[in-house]
Amino acid sequence: MSSPWSRCALCPRLCHSACPVALGSGREAAVPAVLASALLLAERGELAEDVARAAMTLCTDCGACQDHCHLDVPLPTYLREARARALPAPTVEPLRPLVGAGRVIAVESDGREWAEALAGLLGEPVVAWRTRDELGVAALHHEGAGARAARLRNLVGDREVVVISGGVAEVLEAAGVPFTWLRDRVPQLPGGAGSCRLDGKRPIACCGGAGPLPAHHPEDARRVGALWLDRAHEWTVGDARCRNHLRSCGGQVTDPVDALLAGDFVR
Ligand code: SF4
Ligand code: SF4
Repeated sequence: MSSPWSRCALCPRLCHSACPVALGSGREAAVPAVLASALLLAERGELAEDVARAAMTLCTDCGACQDHCHLDVPLPTYLREARARALPAPTVEPLRPLVGAGRVIAVESDGREWAEALAGLLGEPVVAWRTRDELGVAALHHEGAGARAARLRNLVGDREVVVISGGVAEVLEAAGVPFTWLRDRVPQLPGGAGSCRLDGKRPIACCGGAGPLPAHHPEDARRVGALWLDRAHEWTVGDARCRNHLRSCGGQVTDPVDALLAGDFVR
């Protein structure tokens, strides 16, 4: 059986300029074809496992390489599967109970409490669902994810879920739970460009705040963020994960939650 890495390893780096990690970090090792070559060598026992782990985590899981691939190679999926096999399952917090009663759930995923402000806008009670780790997105592709998804579906039931971050969106999508982005639920709020998994103009495919990159290669994640900010310093983004990462890189970046909490929009 051929290796999943072989086509990319032989590719003349055609998606190089699409990969935000390769561009932002400036590292040859982060070029998608080079990642694949490293993982092919590791598969053959010709490269140390720790080097292979470093390679497979030089990624934000943005999907840009596949989008630009002339052969439609699902490199992001291969990398995700490799990480699930090679990295220990991260510890995630148990799903927290919902706070309050109501038909709408606000997933408060970055410490800001916006459920009450949303309730005021919608004119109905909103349940707050707090999470410190984006509902455990880091463990999404590891063992036990199926059981956790079932608990999550039970907790939500048939309520409407409103989200502000791409990590939470990924978890809900994998669990088959429908959700709405805050900016879509309240169209008066600024949606912003540059949001993960949302339409809009983006300076590069990802700001560096998603996937395994920030946890495994924080310096490279900051370099990717710096490249984004170099191309567009002031932004409103729809995804709180981008907002928080870009702020940690020194950017003047806001999101729909900032506008909601400040009452900074036309009612
Ligand atoms: S994803 Fe496609 S374009 Fe990118 S390295 Fe692999 S084969 Fe080449
Ligand atoms: S998924 Fe994105 S970050 Fe990962 S290798 Fe592909 S383009 Fe680079």
